[in-house]
Amino acid sequence: MTETQVSRGRCYCGATVFSFSEAPLVVALCHCVDCRRWTGAPTPTFAAFNTDTLMTDLGPGRVANPGVHRWNCTTCGSPIAATFSYLPAQIYVPVGVLDDADQMSPSVQCHSRSALAWVHLDENLPQDEASARDLLMSLATGKDMK
Ligand SMILES: [Zn+2]
Ligand SMILES: [Zn+2]
Repeated sequence: MTETQVSRGRCYCGATVFSFSEAPLVVALCHCVDCRRWTGAPTPTFAAFNTDTLMTDLGPGRVANPGVHRWNCTTCGSPIAATFSYLPAQIYVPVGVLDDADQMSPSVQCHSRSALAWVHLDENLPQDEASARDLLMSLATGKDMK
């Protein structure tokens, strides 16, 4: 890692390598079906970085749904990143593709009602039955969005 790279990641096959110059703004666990399907993980967890700190050109990606943009490795298909129009200036990376995933423990869980029946929700983490966008925005920006 160079001095400016604070967090680095790569896809399964290694064709996609990327880095960020700053630590994530917030790490969130999302139980929603979209995140589960996209990552293949029963408890998808994402690090939200400031978009400006991305040091790599990820290519065009694709529009997954209105307002949702996703990047997968164009060689192996690993999920790499997603942006959401309702969470401006943030880019969400599944922590499993980050080298320092061990450091990325979540501080909020979204869509808690959609959690798989056998997943035990962490009672110590704030939960939101919906997307938690207000909470994510205040955690990411340090501003109270309510
Ligand atoms: Zn790949
Ligand atoms: Zn989700």
